[in-house]
Amino acid sequence: MNYIKGYRCTICHKFFKPNEVELTCPECGEKGILDIEYDYDALKKVLTKEYFENNRNYSMWRYAPIMGIKEDHIHEMLRVGWSPLYEAHNLEKYLGLKKLYIKDDGQNPSGSSKDRASGVAVLKAIEAGAKTIACSSTGNAASSCACQAAHMGLPAVIFVPKRAPIGKVTQISLYGATLISVDGDYKAAFSLSKEAIKKYGWYNRNAAINPFMIEGKKTVSMEIAEQLNFEPTDWVAVSVGDGCTVGGVYKGFAEFYKLGLIKRIPRILGVQSTGCEPFVVAAKNNEPLKECDENTIADSIAVGIPRNPVKALNAIKLSNGAWISVPDSDIIKASALLGKTEGIFGEPAGVAAIAGIEKAIKEGIIKPSETVTMIVTGNGLKDPVNAQKAITPPTPMKPNLEELDKFLKEKGAI
Ligand SMILES: *Cc1c(COP(=O)(O)O)cnc(C)c1O
Ligand SMILES: [Zn+2]
Repeated sequence: MNYIKGYRCTICHKFFKPNEVELTCPECGEKGILDIEYDYDALKKVLTKEYFENNRNYSMWRYAPIMGIKEDHIHEMLRVGWSPLYEAHNLEKYLGLKKLYIKDDGQNPSGSSKDRASGVAVLKAIEAGAKTIACSSTGNAASSCACQAAHMGLPAVIFVPKRAPIGKVTQISLYGATLISVDGDYKAAFSLSKEAIKKYGWYNRNAAINPFMIEGKKTVSMEIAEQLNFEPTDWVAVSVGDGCTVGGVYKGFAEFYKLGLIKRIPRILGVQSTGCEPFVVAAKNNEPLKECDENTIADSIAVGIPRNPVKALNAIKLSNGAWISVPDSDIIKASALLGKTEGIFGEPAGVAAIAGIEKAIKEGIIKPSETVTMIVTGNGLKDPVNAQKAITPPTPMKPNLEELDKFLKEKGAI
């Protein structure tokens, strides 16, 4: 059963019935990103705590009734979601926090949170009878789209900027997608894909433009809520590029709140790199977003023109959260810190939130007495080149015991 009531434009707030629109608001054009609204009164009777207790589908598809998808093909899909939520005892001690949880979304099929959106995209493409799915991305949406499409036998055409890290680019080709490496930045890849999608009539998985992407992304919060017995932490920290992820994080909690499943919505900390911080600048100066350079090693959040500004800004505003930016040097340190303290390997954008939390505590935004969940949005193996900046690579040693003894003493390992 489909509980979608309709779509509301995030700019002009006009409401459309499901059959009145395609992707964006017909009046505001491409900037008129739509927000999907459900019949929450009807859903309240279905999505109860009991429903979730008895639901044995441990993937994001357990939320199917509130994802706007037909359920015909979900059993054929890869397992997306229900990623582990860990109590981070070592890291919380290091940060001086009362309680820290880590949601490791790097454990999705293609290694990032983007699988949540791509899974929905592929199902919607199949529902629409599309012959090909296409998207442009900084790398993870691309590799996850190629991954999920491959599993369902759907051809994919993928546009990435030439700087996309080797791990992600390799994934895309290995999953058999048609890969277009654009000689330019993400902005350039995005606009070429837009023209091509229009010309060839492919299914459009571009973030933001397609309102269903957030319906996948929001499940991360629903999982966090469930994994914490419907009592989520005071704060949830996540890194921000286009703004879809943070928009989804807010929507998941907001809908669980509407359904009476949680009593309050966590405050959201949106984290950017100081090398590319359009949201932080806009929030600080209380002005509209301005295009900026994409100067950060955290490629997944190197987004100079965020495509989902309204949902991202609302997520922070409506949750009474905060924006913060951290230099790349802190992001590099955060990746080693996470690995060392918790045994979790995240890509730069995947660990930026840790640096953000540390700074937010220093600035008094987050209090040590508060509880926090951070989302690791992408796996570290995707970008080993940048990860190496956080470590000292080994030099090969002569295979004899004396050398070894000397080395171990130097390292303090014996
Ligand atoms: C895409 C992505 C983000 C940011 O998500 P947006 O929707 O672009 O804001 C953060 N971390 C990783 C690893 C990502 O792939
Ligand atoms: Zn509109």
